[in-house]
Amino acid sequence: MNKIKHGLAGGKTMLASRMNNLNPYVPGEQPEDREYIKINANENPFPPSPKVKEALKNFLDKDFKKLGLYPDPDSRKLHEAIADMLNCTGGVLSRCQIEGDALDGTGSAKVKPASEDKIPFTVTPDMIYTGNGSDEVLSFVFYAFFDSDKKLICPEHSYSFYPVYCGFYDIPRLPVELNEDWTLKTEKMTSLARENDSPIIFANPNAPTSICLSREQVKKMLDDAPKNRVFVVDEAYVDFGGESVIALLKDYKNLVVVRTFSKSICGAGLRSGYIVADPQLVNAVTTVKNSLNHFPMDAMTQVACTAACGDIAYYAERAKEICEVRDDFISYLRNKGYTVCDSKTNFVFVKKDGLNGKKAYEFIKQNGILVRRFDTPGIEEYLRITIGTKEQMNELKKVMDKLD
Ligand SMILES: *Cc1c(COP(=O)(O)O)cnc(C)c1O
Repeated sequence: MNKIKHGLAGGKTMLASRMNNLNPYVPGEQPEDREYIKINANENPFPPSPKVKEALKNFLDKDFKKLGLYPDPDSRKLHEAIADMLNCTGGVLSRCQIEGDALDGTGSAKVKPASEDKIPFTVTPDMIYTGNGSDEVLSFVFYAFFDSDKKLICPEHSYSFYPVYCGFYDIPRLPVELNEDWTLKTEKMTSLARENDSPIIFANPNAPTSICLSREQVKKMLDDAPKNRVFVVDEAYVDFGGESVIALLKDYKNLVVVRTFSKSICGAGLRSGYIVADPQLVNAVTTVKNSLNHFPMDAMTQVACTAACGDIAYYAERAKEICEVRDDFISYLRNKGYTVCDSKTNFVFVKKDGLNGKKAYEFIKQNGILVRRFDTPGIEEYLRITIGTKEQMNELKKVMDKLD
């Protein structure tokens, strides 16, 4: 479709033939010409913790000269901080118990995992790999574990970067359709994986549907899937009420859990993502990194993300707030006759019979609010709306009131 759009003016002849396999990802619009309420890219409407600002200021005041040196290629401090964060949250922020005032700026509030989320072992730093956004981390995971002679099993509708990387690395894909209610056909995915001796990838909660499989459901899939192939669960949105499968890592050495600082940790601009997996798999991804770009995480991002992990109560409080605003918005939409998937994410996936998705998107945009819509066959009538602040969602409600 948009092949070679990114090519050279001189035309095809100057391009390597592998360029023909590229079909680049198209992100949500980032317009500069007008001030929109921007709820189209699942970014977090809240700023990072004040502790992040403090850490960056300290870095500039005391360690400015370190910008002249290469950063720690192994991001050791950050890996320790992430492991600590996972151990004390269980991997799902919105369900944590918070002790103290999480928003007072002191960073003194503490968190405890909900009893059902508690991880039954200690996550250690050697189980963590970090990179320049989970998009980059995912690309290294694809390179390390998916081969061109094995079809990769993934849902037909999932994160749209997966097919992009398949093109990039020449990995064949076996997309599996979803059920009519947009839940995953889990048994079909695992039986196809067995037949084809395939690895599996999906997002949980899934995107753009917002629906989450329970840990038990993923465990069943892991039991049924090939044990000698990597099984990747992308938990970009799990902090908004999903069930993390980190607890399963002890029993499933082929499981790779991908996570990001971009959504629940208010850090999309920092570009930071990570995997949690068996140290042997972490080593494989590290080998890919060391063969391509030895220092993907810059020194300031390492400082900022380490500080973020140190004030996790702040983000847990923000995640709870987003879940509340989301649930209120879902009630509003259902009252107005919209079909809304049950969301365990910071976005909702909605449509309404008789309402044209493209027209609805354009009407909302004309009224100063950007949401996301996909031209992908099967989901054209849907809007994917990020949950912003209460105030932003009230503005959207006013606009949507005029839609019918
Ligand atoms: C946003 C998102 C990512 C990418 O996150 P970055 O860390 O910002 O690169 C990965 N997977 C899914 C499913 C996402 O929605």
